[in-house]
Amino acid sequence: MSIKIGLAGNPNSGKTTLFNALTGATQYVGNWPGVTVEKKSGKLKGNKEVEIIDLPGIYSLSPYTLEEVVTRRFLIDDHPDVVINIIDATNIERNLYLTTQILEFGIPTVIALNMMDLIRKKGDHISCKALSKQLGCPVVEISALKEEGIKDAVNKAIEIAKQGRIKKFALPMMEEVEEAITQIKDLLSVHNTTLSLNNDWIAIKLFERDEEIVKQLSLDQSTMTQIEEIIKACEIELDDDCESIITSERYAYIGDVVSHVVKKGNQSKETVSDRIDKIITNRFLALPIFVLIMWFVYYISVSSLGTIVTDWTNDTLFGEIIQGNMQNFLETANVAPWLTALICDGIIGGVGAVLGFVPQIMLLFFFLAILEDCGYMARVAFIMDRIFRKFGLSGKSFIPMLIGSGCGVPGIMASRTLENDKDRKMTIMLTTFIPCGAKLPIIALFAGAMFGGASWVAPTVYFMCITMVVICGMILKQTKLFAGEPAPFVMELPTYHIPGLKGVLIHMWDRGKGFIIKAGTVIFVACGLIWFLQSFSWSLEMVEGEGSILASIGNVVAPIFAPLGFGNWEAAVATITGLVAKENVVATYGVLYGIADATEETSDLLSVIAANFTAVSAFSFIAFNMLCAPCFAAVGAIRREMGSWKWTFIATGFQTFTAYLVALLINKVGTALLLGGSIIEAIIAIAIVAIVIISVFIWGRGKSQETSFDV
Ligand code: GDP
Ligand code: MG
Repeated sequence: MSIKIGLAGNPNSGKTTLFNALTGATQYVGNWPGVTVEKKSGKLKGNKEVEIIDLPGIYSLSPYTLEEVVTRRFLIDDHPDVVINIIDATNIERNLYLTTQILEFGIPTVIALNMMDLIRKKGDHISCKALSKQLGCPVVEISALKEEGIKDAVNKAIEIAKQGRIKKFALPMMEEVEEAITQIKDLLSVHNTTLSLNNDWIAIKLFERDEEIVKQLSLDQSTMTQIEEIIKACEIELDDDCESIITSERYAYIGDVVSHVVKKGNQSKETVSDRIDKIITNRFLALPIFVLIMWFVYYISVSSLGTIVTDWTNDTLFGEIIQGNMQNFLETANVAPWLTALICDGIIGGVGAVLGFVPQIMLLFFFLAILEDCGYMARVAFIMDRIFRKFGLSGKSFIPMLIGSGCGVPGIMASRTLENDKDRKMTIMLTTFIPCGAKLPIIALFAGAMFGGASWVAPTVYFMCITMVVICGMILKQTKLFAGEPAPFVMELPTYHIPGLKGVLIHMWDRGKGFIIKAGTVIFVACGLIWFLQSFSWSLEMVEGEGSILASIGNVVAPIFAPLGFGNWEAAVATITGLVAKENVVATYGVLYGIADATEETSDLLSVIAANFTAVSAFSFIAFNMLCAPCFAAVGAIRREMGSWKWTFIATGFQTFTAYLVALLINKVGTALLLGGSIIEAIIAIAIVAIVIISVFIWGRGKSQETSFDV
């Protein structure tokens, strides 16, 4: 017999940790809500008959957020044999809120009391026996992180599933509410609904005016009116609205349960986490600390340690060992020169240029994983909430951006957790401003070529990108498309802990492997194509440089970029190929000029770049490539999440336009200030940007009165 087990619980209660421990999978364990939006399933280690489904984290079974809807649909439509309700024991009151609803729902349930290691450390005591007696379902103590008690929990779940018996759970309620619910239940039994659900649960949901259930039941009008009358009467009698009535009933019950099962140890001691938070989330220190930390992360991974590793892989591994030996081998084997060139210059040159940066990408992900796992990133969302709120977004919008610093695709997908549609769309539009792993090589390459690998370049680019999120957010909020108050942002901060090496490495690998795979697929093909286009003329004769198909295409596009300071065809081509995948920007240069090989003067990639750019135009090139439309994969994600092509065009158009203005400003003003360029041109550039911003404000103000606007 096969058994289906659903893992349900609040965000951050440890569902994914438990899921990974049970199935041996390496799903993303996150420290913030919304990491697991879709459900994921896997087989129990050692028993393939048992399927385990990791559900998104939810606080309640109401239908307000996507996570709740996904979980509820799963419970209703997929009929798991048993649910393991995982509870964060350090937050037992809040977690039991969902528990009461799951028990009401009437599916066999086992409660896994997680994080017991923390409870023990705090010196608290929770009696599983008493809790089990109160709730009428088995309760097992576990620590998902330390893999303690998890076998017991699963075995208990399997046992319960096989029995299939459910002890009925009824929330004790005030007489008035009890009566109203009974009346609704009576109405339902008369109408004999087809849904194979527990009538008690349905009655409570109807009492809460849960629209999703109303839709599913398709009750006739007269029944609905009767139900509405019952609810109204109760609301008037208790002078409260139906949802709050039920909520306070639940909390009253939970308070009672908790008082029976939890014994606090030495109380009211300020924990280490609290003390750290006093500094880290301090109103004035929070932002400087964040800047310092990110500066350090980018400094280590891009400039200091990262450069050493990347230089070695680029120069020695790919440049000398692989490319050199391959060249010799192919030449001695008498392979056709064009094929040798394709393999050595095209494939190894391009793919190698990208792979060379993998150590830097991995280092960045390593540090981000540590920051996430120890609990710091959750604080960042909280800190950014203060800033984002000023222009009408909540800290919740920063979570997709944090995830987006790995790859934009999951970042964009994480925007699903935003309830408010306008905020969600705006977050999608701004998320890819944050430099993802694939954009890192662009920064590193240009920092190396133009700024001698200076340590300030990468962090500066990172903060420029965040600043652009804030500025564009402020501007967009002025328009009719996005105006509105930010949704409240509630997020409990996980206690700090020292991250485990295994978890950190899994994270790092999880995010980083995609780049290696991409290098072997998309980038590989792109490099072959780029090599072909740059080696042949339109009449298919082998040529060098200017006469090639690639150069002629690049030359058509290049004038567009001339005002930005990089009007040469190589930069134009690199930028365009970057739309397929951002690694292509570096790969294109790799194909054109070979791997960044510092030993050979003539074929040196870095010196070619240095000859074609000024310090200012290099920065403008970086800025444009960071902010413009993202790669195909991310555009696809935008299309999926926006649900319309129109919005996809609005988003990518907005990004590219913004990138253009920023790069223009950097180039013109920078050239005027630093390189003695034309002051007039700088003023014109500033004027253009100012006019654009002012027109958006005027357009936005005129229309902001309209309440509805559908695109
Ligand atoms: P989910 O949102 O419910 O999927 O929760 P996760 O599995 O992503 O876990 C959230 C955080 O809690 C992670 O940082 C885990 O490392 C941590 N965590 C999970 N289980 C335990 C546990 O038993 N003890 C401790 N101390 N931490 C845990
Ligand atoms: Mg999860």
